[in-house]
Amino acid sequence: MRQAIILLTVTFLFAGGCGPADPPATQSEPTKKDLSVEEKTQKPLRIVFYDFDQTLSVIHIFKETNGANDVSEKSDQFFVDAFGGEERIARLKKHFERLAQAEVKCNIVSYGYTAVIKESLTRVGLIGFFKTEAIFGRDSEALTRFKGKKHKVISEEMDSESISYEEAFFVDDSKKNIDECEEAETCRILHVHERRGLTEEDLLFLEGGLKK
Ligand SMILES: [Mg+2]
Repeated sequence: MRQAIILLTVTFLFAGGCGPADPPATQSEPTKKDLSVEEKTQKPLRIVFYDFDQTLSVIHIFKETNGANDVSEKSDQFFVDAFGGEERIARLKKHFERLAQAEVKCNIVSYGYTAVIKESLTRVGLIGFFKTEAIFGRDSEALTRFKGKKHKVISEEMDSESISYEEAFFVDDSKKNIDECEEAETCRILHVHERRGLTEEDLLFLEGGLKK
């Protein structure tokens, strides 16, 4: 009798598992396909807001120069090293060229001095990828007005060009700035967690969002 009950239970379980309430695995495939279609139709990237120290550069230039607002006396080698060497500078150049080709704007929102950021980018040949008004340093009108809240500067810039959440990225090594931007739901975020500048993986991730 006991054996009969066990057999009956097993039969029910087996039948239940194959019943219409539990469709075979193959039927769930269209959902996956739908998702990938959604990914493909996602709006392409239009603007990226980069932090400067330890995001574009690998070292913290502001701290390294003791908060100097003029770094023009520094040697060319200082700047090459600050950006991680010639090879990384060439990779950054390729990154910005790819973005420019896809008509993606590049802005900088940083707690470094605007003049220091401009001098640094000039010395490594990257200044041409940034418009003068696209660099917001600690002494910029916007960052001062928003009391250092980067996501508010970003939000204002996005509003002025009707750029939506998914069309913009904010990239920073500061978890605090990233978290504030995420909480405010301003735009997409990329945290440079190693705090040694954007890595190859980070650059490819951003380039993956470009229109084909
Ligand atoms: Mg930084």
